[in-house]
Amino acid sequence: MQEDDFLVPILVDNREWRKKCPERDSHDLLVAKEAQVLPKHNGVVRDPKIVDWVNCSICGKQGCRQLFCKQGFIYVQCENCDHVYVQNRIRYLNQLYKESEADAAFVKLQKNSNHLDYWTRVYKKYYSLMSNFTGPNQEILDIGCGVGSFLNYVNQHYSATNLHGLELNLGAAKYVKQIVGPDRFYDQPIEDVEFNTQFNQVYMWGVLEHLSDPTTVLKKIRDILSDQGYLLFLIPNFSSRAVKILGAQTPTFEPRNHIQFYTKKSLELLYKNVGLKSVGVYYELPVIDLMYPFIDYSKELALEISNNGEGYYEVHIAKKL
Ligand SMILES: [Zn+2]
Repeated sequence: MQEDDFLVPILVDNREWRKKCPERDSHDLLVAKEAQVLPKHNGVVRDPKIVDWVNCSICGKQGCRQLFCKQGFIYVQCENCDHVYVQNRIRYLNQLYKESEADAAFVKLQKNSNHLDYWTRVYKKYYSLMSNFTGPNQEILDIGCGVGSFLNYVNQHYSATNLHGLELNLGAAKYVKQIVGPDRFYDQPIEDVEFNTQFNQVYMWGVLEHLSDPTTVLKKIRDILSDQGYLLFLIPNFSSRAVKILGAQTPTFEPRNHIQFYTKKSLELLYKNVGLKSVGVYYELPVIDLMYPFIDYSKELALEISNNGEGYYEVHIAKKL
């Protein structure tokens, strides 16, 4: 593929997505149910045993304006760096990721064949792009690797590579260990792991929006990247067409999990703070299933959305400064 070809998003007919992927709804419902039972005051979760009231995770400032409240959690936008975040943040997030019912449902979702087919196309495209940058025979680390779908893809198609996976969810661990072996599997937060190698390719598929402290995590990644190494991360796009059409009802606003939304300004500041620089931004999934009732779908529209930087996902590639 030529460099420009990577700018074209993967197109998928996802009109009946929730029928093809019923695990998607079960996961979303379980997360909503978890939030429903939390005690609230005026509709907001305030109990200090459950939530911390936090400042902006990127610039540290307190000044912000409220965007909306969902499931008892308040999304705000930082007045200083534009970062969007959940202000009353659940205190025991890592525990939930480890063994909650909703996260067990997420493990099931990753095994759904329709879900996997789409993501395998994404993995193929971006592994190929990353390998254009780094060349073959890589030390690869996938942080928050779930059941290891990406690692499995690389393992099956490119054997001359050392694969490492980090995942907190206990139910996912056994799948990942089978792919990477027990010595290259990590079940702790990345800040706590001591690696004895440097990586040429580090991946985070839908992880950065979950992290309480993205700065510390990215600093650690910078330290374990080789000088010729690249980091790829996929995050939800706060400026997506889906958000413009569906507003607060966009499924990515799932306040128990998705606590950080990066904007151009906040991401630039984050890069500066951790010593990384951007080498590329790509947009995927221009249209999600819930948008169809509100658009006149065509391939041209999908491409226009993507070209405008309004895809549902952003894929960023970065390297050391
Ligand atoms: Zn800020």
